[in-house]
Amino acid sequence: MALERDLAAIVGEAYVQTAPALLSAYSCDGYTLETGRPRAVVLPADAEQVAAVVRRVAQEGVPLVARGAGTSLSGGATPPPGAVVVHLSRMNRIRAIDPANRIAEVEPAVVNAWVSRAARPYGLFYAPDPSSQQACTIGGNIAENAGGPHCLKYGVTVNHVLMADVVWADGSRGRVGNLAGDPEGVDVLGLLAGSEGTLGIVTRAWLRLVPLPEASATLQAVFDRVEDASAAVSDIIAAGVIPSALEMMDQLAVTAVERGNFRVGYPLDLGAVLLVELDGTAEAVWEEAEAVLDLLRRHHVRFARRAETEAERTLWWANRKTAFGAMGLISPRYYVQDGVIPRSRLPEALRAIGDISRRYGIRIANVFHAGDGNLHPLLLYDDRDPDEVRRVVAAGHEVLAVCVALGGSITGEHGVGLEKRDDMTVQFGPAELALQQALKTAFDPAGILNPGKLLPRPGRCAAESWTAVAAEPGSG
Ligand SMILES: Cc1cc2nc3c(=O)[nH]c(=O)nc-3n(C[C@H](O)[C@H](O)[C@H](O)COP(=O)(O)OP(=O)(O)OC[C@H]3O[C@@H](n4cnc5c(N)ncnc54)[C@H](O)[C@@H]3O)c2cc1C
Repeated sequence: MALERDLAAIVGEAYVQTAPALLSAYSCDGYTLETGRPRAVVLPADAEQVAAVVRRVAQEGVPLVARGAGTSLSGGATPPPGAVVVHLSRMNRIRAIDPANRIAEVEPAVVNAWVSRAARPYGLFYAPDPSSQQACTIGGNIAENAGGPHCLKYGVTVNHVLMADVVWADGSRGRVGNLAGDPEGVDVLGLLAGSEGTLGIVTRAWLRLVPLPEASATLQAVFDRVEDASAAVSDIIAAGVIPSALEMMDQLAVTAVERGNFRVGYPLDLGAVLLVELDGTAEAVWEEAEAVLDLLRRHHVRFARRAETEAERTLWWANRKTAFGAMGLISPRYYVQDGVIPRSRLPEALRAIGDISRRYGIRIANVFHAGDGNLHPLLLYDDRDPDEVRRVVAAGHEVLAVCVALGGSITGEHGVGLEKRDDMTVQFGPAELALQQALKTAFDPAGILNPGKLLPRPGRCAAESWTAVAAEPGSG
């Protein structure tokens, strides 16, 4: 195994893993319907080692997949069979917090939540806050252009990365963006964000920090009907209020979270609950909170209230942020979809999802970033029942088709990965797809970086791929 021997010479023998038991831990990410066994896993210590690994693997023409925490929900970090996984977990240091310029300089495997923790003493924070923020890494966030509850007001990852060091597909090293944050020339940093490890491997990033708000308020509103909650979401934004977060959970989702470790005590017969967070100066927050409470009351809210203590506010958010995991309390498995629609079309989208749930006989819980129309239907199933797996896969992709039909997109924030690569044909025409393929080829002519992700397979349409996954779950 000349390749493995050479990789060990670059990173040290202890940091090349080939034992079958260890490799199986890398066979998928948070999307478990498709898997692929890598040939080896390499753990480089720094950018120089990443570059040397890429150069050597490229010589061999073997596919190569960067991996952060493996929390992707679309199979982005799932290796094509026989690939080398470059696991960046040793590159996990915060190199500097620069309060004067409000910048954090971090290695790629720094966990998202660590950045805000380190910036807090300076009165700063890192705004993009995926619900997986206690585990997911900045490299993975950039590659997926991750969002989160606070991205409604502050913008998603691409709006918060100023500059990045990258190893390209031939093993050369480069730097994109600049510390001033002004785009120069072609916005290569912008292309990198959301490219799912198909264009280059991020080895360091300079992140924009923002001041902690002077004050914040969290409101909770319980509705009897999802339709009223959806209409309230549109009206809050239409009234000119931009909450820092505006999240919704429906009844099935609440049933799950209320069995978890962070019980709020929501009534289990509710239709939907909204969490609205406002931040800014103390005076503005007070005025906006009163205005939003008034507006909620006009939408037949059962009750609406403001968190009275920091402990209460933290509990409400812990309850919401652990909602995906809580599905395990009501179902053996769940399949999370991620589509986005214009927020004014929420009522139609939720009605269509309800209809899909009934037609396929699949329970669907909805937990989502309502303010930006980013839906997360959680389709509950039992993987021991092949027919249910078939139905859940088809139902999930039908949800995406609904999002596109309503003027939205097949992914709000979880990426395309393996899962939705053929759904790209629902969203884009041949000319747009050819342009995206040409970009990929310009960055990676040999096609070694995370092949088979993001772009549709030639000649495959979406429906064919769902049938294949459902017929043979677990096949990569
Ligand atoms: C419970 C739960 C909640 C979630 N909530 C959210 C949410 O609110 N918002 C959201 O956006 N996502 C969410 N996610 C999805 C996921 O956490 C994000 O996509 C996250 O950005 C992935 O980061 P990671 O470090 O786990 O990356 P991985 O899963 O390891 O990799 C993801 C992709 O990034 C690539 N990659 C990783 N590191 C690098 C690098 N250094 N350079 C180049 N490419 C790289 C990989 O090849 C892969 O394509 C959630 C996931 C879970 C499990």
